[in-house]
Amino acid sequence: MPAYKRILLKLSGEALMGDDAFGINRATIVRMVEEIAEVTRLGVEVAIVIGGGNIFRGVAGGSVGMDRATADYMGMLATVMNSLALADALEKAGVVARVMSAIAIEQVVEPYVRPKALQYLEEGKVVVFAAGTGNPFFTTDTAAALRGAEIGAEIVLKATKVDGVYTADPKKDPSATRYSAISFDEAMVKNLQVMDATAFALCRDQKLPVKVFSIFKPGALRNVVLGGDEGTLVHV
Ligand code: UDP
Repeated sequence: MPAYKRILLKLSGEALMGDDAFGINRATIVRMVEEIAEVTRLGVEVAIVIGGGNIFRGVAGGSVGMDRATADYMGMLATVMNSLALADALEKAGVVARVMSAIAIEQVVEPYVRPKALQYLEEGKVVVFAAGTGNPFFTTDTAAALRGAEIGAEIVLKATKVDGVYTADPKKDPSATRYSAISFDEAMVKNLQVMDATAFALCRDQKLPVKVFSIFKPGALRNVVLGGDEGTLVHV
């Protein structure tokens, strides 16, 4: 039995790169979609927010020297590309998916309309929220927190490169250990990196728990959805 009825899955753009240095790796996206399809087959309603870091980020790389807001709009457009690729791969895997954009781009993607998103989810369709929050100076983590709260998701599942929140950076400190659960307050006091500050504050205020887990560990998403001891649960 799944532990949740409705989840908001946050995938970083980088997760789509696989071993490539840039862009969308076909084998990686196909594998990821298999895992998502498996979760939908458990009867869980799935909404997804995907980042854009594999293509463009407003604060790094090609954006250096650019006007920040312009660069951020480019970053949001990058998430639209990723969302299209993800929805396409989902459909190919037999999962009905809809992309909804926070920025009007109607010839490509339908606009985000909350009641419509809720309807799709109730119909068992996977909804991919594209273009982040639609505003510069935010991140897709914040979009995940925002949409998660709006659609009444029971949890935000943050799929990352590491398999949870650690006492210290495991790359720098080999003695670092993973928390299986930690409260928002404790994570804040200890200054642990869960999500960016805006996303963190939103989830905390809305009492929306966050689970941080590894996207690269096969079966991890399913295990999380089944309530297994996977990754780190950040709770109220
Ligand atoms: N972005 C934005 N507003 C949002 C979400 C994203 O301006 O609400 C821009 C921002 O420039 C960001 C880029 O889109 O760097 C890609 O998103 P993010 O860095 O969150 O992607 P990820 O790190 O998850 O791949």
